[in-house]
Amino acid sequence: MPIALAQPLARTSLQSVVKWGSHVVTVGGDAPVRIQSMTNTDTEDAIGTAIQVKELALAGSELVRITVNTPEAAQAVPYIREQLDRMGISVPLIGDFHYNGHRLLSEFPDCAQALSKYRINPGNVGKGDKRDRQFSQMIEAAIQWDKPIRIGVNWGSLDQELLASLMDANNQRVNPWDAKQVMYEALITSALESAQRAEEIGLAGHQITLSCKVSGVTDLIAVYRELAKRSKYSLHLGLTEAGMGTKGTVASATALGILLQEGIGDTIRVSLTPAPGEARTQEVVVASEIIQSLGLRKFVPSVTACPGCGRTTSTTFQELTKQIDDFLRDQMPVWRTQYPGVENMKVAVMGCIVNGPGESKHADIGISLPGTGEAPAAPVFIDGEKRMTLRGESIAADFQNVVENYIRERFTPRTPSI
Ligand code: SF4
Repeated sequence: MPIALAQPLARTSLQSVVKWGSHVVTVGGDAPVRIQSMTNTDTEDAIGTAIQVKELALAGSELVRITVNTPEAAQAVPYIREQLDRMGISVPLIGDFHYNGHRLLSEFPDCAQALSKYRINPGNVGKGDKRDRQFSQMIEAAIQWDKPIRIGVNWGSLDQELLASLMDANNQRVNPWDAKQVMYEALITSALESAQRAEEIGLAGHQITLSCKVSGVTDLIAVYRELAKRSKYSLHLGLTEAGMGTKGTVASATALGILLQEGIGDTIRVSLTPAPGEARTQEVVVASEIIQSLGLRKFVPSVTACPGCGRTTSTTFQELTKQIDDFLRDQMPVWRTQYPGVENMKVAVMGCIVNGPGESKHADIGISLPGTGEAPAAPVFIDGEKRMTLRGESIAADFQNVVENYIRERFTPRTPSI
């Protein structure tokens, strides 16, 4: 028997349609897993926010969320949309609302219209008898302006009345559940009851996306497995407060990777805390790498590189790998439109003769650098065949040229002859 392939399972959710102008992005159903991100600029600073949205979109974010927390922020939203349209940035804006969303959406119709989707946190729409009324107001705005919504539950702002009632019910059980399990139940119940209420008010079910974010990897897996079992709504995946750097990246990749492999999740956001000076776009890079590493989609040419070892003691190998990786990623916003299919390209950068030629032959373009004690020459393989040998100080620049020429030759669309 052949060994079974380990492709991610197929997803079976409803599909929501996110529109702005004549543009459309679908989420769920047969749509590819979408990448989204969120700005960390003050939305009242319309220009600064538009610039960051542009950066996120160029990095590959297909939807961008902005916080809409004050009347001034709501007033800035149509202006941000206008700036993006002027810059030719085709990405939908999602408004993130808490506490006063019902008021902002009704008092600032231009904002309600300029946004392509609303995020509603059922734990933050109001307390007691105000809660249902304010939630309804937001759903009515979504219906009036024909916008999809995300019901985004978060364990840090979980509906406390619901949690208390589930805790009480748990205390009546002969064998009470673990407190964690009650919390899982509260997250899922909050999302599902809110979605049901939105449908009763008149919002189409396919226009609802759900999320239940927690910060623990195994908690997220438990919650989403159950959420996917109990509903057909499209699902937004993400660890909340994933953290910084390696920790946040690894935690997000582990949790999201496991769920996506099981066919759970229609759009993802990686909530990384940027290190001081680090680009906000890093969260988009990580999200695209998670999706690409599972083979769900291709965004950038892949660079295969060996880890290096005692056989390669120079830093040339590390520098070249980084240079090529950065070069390919930086060029992608332009190449995506000029060279269709370029994201499928494979490049290998190897440190010595042990695995270098073999791995390079499996790539579209590969270079095998000289290891310690080897002749100072770097054979380059193109489409599996050795085509040239690079030598001297400018190996890195020369290889970059080889890659660029290859892309131009192989991926320029041919105009049909008449
Ligand atoms: S290819 Fe060479 S340098 Fe790279 S890890 Fe293998 S033995 Fe070490």
